[in-house]
Amino acid sequence: MSARIGTDLRSAADLLRKGEVVAIPTETVYGLAANAFDSAAVLKVFTAKARPSFDPLIVHIGRPEQLDHVVKELPEGAERLMKTFWPGPLTLVLPKRPEIPDIVTSGLDTVGVRMPAHPLALELLSQLDFPLAAPSANPFGYVSPTNAQHVADQLGEAIPYILDGGPCMVGVESTIIGWEGDGWKLHRPGGVPVEELEAVIGAVAVAQPRILPVAPGQLESHYAPRIPVLLGDVEQLLAEHAKERVAVISFRQDYDAWRTAVLSPSGDLAEAARNFFGALRALEASGASVILAERLPEEGLGRAINDRLRRAAAKR
Ligand code: AMP
Ligand code: MG
Repeated sequence: MSARIGTDLRSAADLLRKGEVVAIPTETVYGLAANAFDSAAVLKVFTAKARPSFDPLIVHIGRPEQLDHVVKELPEGAERLMKTFWPGPLTLVLPKRPEIPDIVTSGLDTVGVRMPAHPLALELLSQLDFPLAAPSANPFGYVSPTNAQHVADQLGEAIPYILDGGPCMVGVESTIIGWEGDGWKLHRPGGVPVEELEAVIGAVAVAQPRILPVAPGQLESHYAPRIPVLLGDVEQLLAEHAKERVAVISFRQDYDAWRTAVLSPSGDLAEAARNFFGALRALEASGASVILAERLPEEGLGRAINDRLRRAAAKR
């Protein structure tokens, strides 16, 4: 099989109705989608990605009414969050309805759900009478895809169709928060800055890691290119690795290295997020033997980027 890349919504919808998987654009990263009500279709997502069954998928809806078949109840603040941030990069973890099969949620009694803000994804969802379960469209543990070619490079042989919606406008995955009885807890920093959430629902604590990992946040190595990533003081790391072909990923500053990817010369965190995963891929492909990286400011989208950098640099 070799994936076709195109903008044909009808082909994408037909394949999904037949229980196939299709890569779809969202504003965060590209997703690998299947009918969320069809266990056999969802299993193909796990197989194509070599994703472990303990890592649950996010369910994508295209209209608010679809929530009735996904979640059992809306806790305090949920409606305000949806009104403020949907469509957009915010996933809510809520009590699930029985229609959502166990394979989607890894057997949890909660489900992650969001409405994506990409026009093509919304148009596709409007043509379907089921929501789409979709994780990022990359092999498990590897760098997330932010354009259609990234998906083709990694999963092209494993899936039939890639719906091309251009480069992703946010560039990092959704923020995930879950209701835990006494308040909202952060499972993963992402495209909606925590500061913006807190302006709507008050303080958001960080969720306790579970024994079984339920979020990439709890799997240490993730978002990882195939060459080592070292996170720290770049000048010092450059001195230590002077004899190697070194690539640097930096926020605004240029460094004297074999290759440097500057994420945003003007210091704009949203631009940095948009460029981040593509930069990791380009540096990996550059022939460098190691990638050195510096932390970004721990605020706004910087928090999401730092989270990805930390995991890309984690021991494998
Ligand atoms: P991905 O789309 O590849 O970033 O993966 C989806 C992520 O959503 C999972 O790794 C989990 O972190 C999160 N998620 C989905 N459903 C749940 C849930 N019921 N409880 C906690 N986290 C969830
Ligand atoms: Mg992922």
